[in-house]
Amino acid sequence: MSSSVTAIVESEKPKKKKERKMAICKLKSLLSLWKCNSSLVSSPFRTFSSSQLPPHHLQNVGFIGLGNMGSRMANNLIKAGFRLTVHDVNSDVLEMFSQMGVSTKKTPYEVSEASDVVITMLPSSAHVIDVYTGPNGLLHGGKLLRPWLLIDSSTIDPQTSRNLSATISNYILKEKKGDWEVPFKLDAPVSGSIIAAEAGTLTFMVGGSEEAFVAAEPLFFSMGKSAIYCGGAGTGSAAKICNNLALAVSMLGISEALALGQSLGVSASTLTNIFNCSSARCWSSDAYNPVPGLMEGVPSSRDYNGGFASKLMAKDLKLAVESAKMAESKYPLTSQAQKIYTELCKDGHEAKDFSCAFRHYYSGMDEPHDQ
Ligand code: NAD
Repeated sequence: MSSSVTAIVESEKPKKKKERKMAICKLKSLLSLWKCNSSLVSSPFRTFSSSQLPPHHLQNVGFIGLGNMGSRMANNLIKAGFRLTVHDVNSDVLEMFSQMGVSTKKTPYEVSEASDVVITMLPSSAHVIDVYTGPNGLLHGGKLLRPWLLIDSSTIDPQTSRNLSATISNYILKEKKGDWEVPFKLDAPVSGSIIAAEAGTLTFMVGGSEEAFVAAEPLFFSMGKSAIYCGGAGTGSAAKICNNLALAVSMLGISEALALGQSLGVSASTLTNIFNCSSARCWSSDAYNPVPGLMEGVPSSRDYNGGFASKLMAKDLKLAVESAKMAESKYPLTSQAQKIYTELCKDGHEAKDFSCAFRHYYSGMDEPHDQ
């Protein structure tokens, strides 16, 4: 079982208290190992030694949304030496963080009151709006805010990101932070799966104030391997949906071509070899091949489990379609890809990795390794 909190939550069933206790112990021991022996653990993270705490403006970090991604990102921040205060509507996951000695709060507003920076990692725009502006939300305290920076890493539509930034621009800080008197908001969605969240190798795409982006870099590099500044508010969210739109179309293109090849008598392994040294080469062919049996360590090699769920791809394509409509941009491929992923979800494959389109939409065949 994975070491992360979420893996433990996912595995929990009502009558499995004993297993739960064991899982919590395992997690606790891992976290204490991280805390005590960071020099022993080979890690890509930026960490702070005991004599060198995180920068003053980043010491108290609030984290809201401790699901598949968020729990792992929060773990990496703890590992890097940040002091965390966390919240989630799932009381089980809060209980587990609490047992690890992490401060937990019942509402987003309580997190806000304890934090210099608050990071959110939530399922959709509606959840983000609720956590920011709902009763006891982050912005509950009139026009005054304790945190100088709010970072939303959820994948949401660019318009909602821009609206929230505009709302926050009307707030002032309870206490001046250096030269800053007003809070900043960054949209900073991520590319990378649950595995990348756990390994701390996410890529952040960041929109908002460039000054705030630079000041927040130690946070990004404790959870990821790269952070790319995209421009003003909403551009991080826009970049993320464009990235996933390109990914969906390339995965479907590779899957369609490989399945056609099989029907025409060319094996997927032969075609993959050709693609990977020709003009069709892409990440979906050479690093995340959708054909079971062709590549080890990718979701297609484990019945499409443990990757980027088709339902998340369908959600991101819906955001891309809505954004294209608003921007009056043409979107024939986005629209077709959205249809395919919606169909896959309806057919019961919503939890399978998005590369399952090869088998479950195109009826492509598995291939043995030695073919
Ligand atoms: P998830 O559903 O596993 O986790 C979401 C968490 O938010 C849950 O713990 C849930 O209880 C909590 N939550 C929901 N509403 C809340 C509220 N009102 N207040 C507090 N907590 C609340 O989702 P995830 O897979 O961690 O994805 C999070 C975001 O990251 C999504 O926007 C997703 O599109 C994006 N993303 C996911 C992946 C992936 O591989 N899973 C990869 C890249 C980006």
